[in-house]
Amino acid sequence: MPRPRVPHNFIVQRTQRLTDHLIRVHLGGPGFDTFQPNAFTDSYVKLQFPGPDGDTVRTYTVRSIDPAAREIAIDFVYHGDEGVAGPWAAAAQPGDPLTLNGPGGAYAPRPDADWHLLAGDDSALPAIAVACAALPADATGRVFVEVGSPADELEFDHPAGVTVTWLHRGDAAPGEQLVAAVTAEPWREGRVQVFIHGEAQAVMHGLRPYIRKERGVPADSASISGYWRLGRTEEGFRSWKRELAETEGEPVGGRGRR
Ligand SMILES: Cc1cc2nc3c(=O)[nH]c(=O)nc-3n(C[C@H](O)[C@H](O)[C@H](O)COP(=O)(O)OP(=O)(O)OC[C@H]3O[C@@H](n4cnc5c(N)ncnc54)[C@H](O)[C@@H]3O)c2cc1C
Repeated sequence: MPRPRVPHNFIVQRTQRLTDHLIRVHLGGPGFDTFQPNAFTDSYVKLQFPGPDGDTVRTYTVRSIDPAAREIAIDFVYHGDEGVAGPWAAAAQPGDPLTLNGPGGAYAPRPDADWHLLAGDDSALPAIAVACAALPADATGRVFVEVGSPADELEFDHPAGVTVTWLHRGDAAPGEQLVAAVTAEPWREGRVQVFIHGEAQAVMHGLRPYIRKERGVPADSASISGYWRLGRTEEGFRSWKRELAETEGEPVGGRGRR
């Protein structure tokens, strides 16, 4: 039987500017007592931002859970003054309430994979960092992260056999560098497990066909979806996903349906 959706009422404890465009918000309070972590490294929650016409919902990765401090942390891309969640994180103060639902999730690195390919933009950096921390020490693989500029790089732990490449977007379209780098990467022998998320057009049209069709990676070894869509709010992005699913005749990019 599905578990009832219990909202978790968190309180902002503190915030940290991690890079030019990344803000970490530490959340504690009563929400921590009701929040039940899951085993996925792309564990995500649905943040509720109250408004006059009801809640605006935004989806974010759980970057870390600290049982001693009784806190979870979420890393928000600050992508300008547009939107709800990014500006909220930039203005968040200790004591501010934040209600969220979840967590959901769909991916965790498999120890039996011969190698791992992880790629994404700043919005997927939290999930990529959690995945890399969960890889076995002898894991091998390639990681590509596209951020705006060198000032947006944020180091994270990964096994010695996993090579991380930072890509700088500059004035290029989001995801352009990512598509170029992943498709140029020499393909390795053996069973790969893939995790690719970021701007939806780049991921779903620029990389998914390459991974699934050209490289023949089966669906159960490929977690690939858009995390946001250029020029669309999260609501608009949900319609974009529905339209794509109708065109393709199958669900795409939905959580747990990748
Ligand atoms: C499973 C999942 C996990 C996610 N995890 C994270 C996470 O940990 N951290 C994170 O920052 N995001 C994450 N995202 C992406 C996040 O949900 C979207 O970026 C969301 O649209 C941000 O909401 P907003 O209110 O700030 O902007 P919106 O109101 O949704 O959009 C306003 C405008 O900003 C643009 N925009 C939205 N996101 C970005 C961006 N990242 N870069 C540039 N422009 C953007 C939109 O195209 C739109 O024009 C995740 C998404 C999913 C599906």
